[in-house]
Amino acid sequence: MTVKSKFLKALILGAPASGKGTISSRIVKRYNVEHISSGDKLRDHIQKQTDLGKEVKAYLDEGKLVPDNVMIKFMITELDKVPNKPWLLDGFPRTVGQAQALWKVQPVDVVLNLAVPFDVIIDRVKNRWVHLPSGRVYNIGFNTPKVDGKDDITGEDLVQRPDDKPEAVKKRLEIYDSITRPVIDFYKDIGILKEFPGRTSDEIWPKVTTYLDPIFKM
Ligand code: AMP
Repeated sequence: MTVKSKFLKALILGAPASGKGTISSRIVKRYNVEHISSGDKLRDHIQKQTDLGKEVKAYLDEGKLVPDNVMIKFMITELDKVPNKPWLLDGFPRTVGQAQALWKVQPVDVVLNLAVPFDVIIDRVKNRWVHLPSGRVYNIGFNTPKVDGKDDITGEDLVQRPDDKPEAVKKRLEIYDSITRPVIDFYKDIGILKEFPGRTSDEIWPKVTTYLDPIFKM
């Protein structure tokens, strides 16, 4: 692999709840790269009730993709603001239109694709409960709350995030399959796609470090 720019520009692909967040934060920590998550940035705008936030809220609530023209303009502006250091792009591009637009202005060096079977993902998300005020996340069977449906610390109710409900997850996976899968092929054709199959993040992570350590000369 050759790094075309001065700093490594990496991109991570993976279905919703494939463990992309977990792998991304481990990459950020181990290699000290800037994490650019389109979902986090959009949620931030929604929370701050900016014009963009108001425009995109309904899409996120329904698990639908924000239109390409809005997304491309927003993310290309965001990428221009990133300081001079390696970055890891997460959540963008999600469509071939977005991938083509990005390629014109910021050709990435490497694309990591997390290949987690969809049945594993649906099962995992079904068991995920959150305490909204604190953001604490519980996974039944993995870190189960002490009392069913209650937060360990405050005793308050746990809820399922609206976009974590099985119907919403299934919808997002279907969207992912039909629209985002061509993005994988786009990068495969260019020859910069690296696949990481596995059922859990702990299974995938050692494969990622084996691949990235030499690139970051660790
Ligand atoms: P994420 O946290 O990456 O799952 O993103 C949450 C939501 O933000 C998605 O379900 C979409 O509604 C929206 N979103 C994030 N990134 C994109 C993108 N590249 N294109 C369109 N919509 C996006």
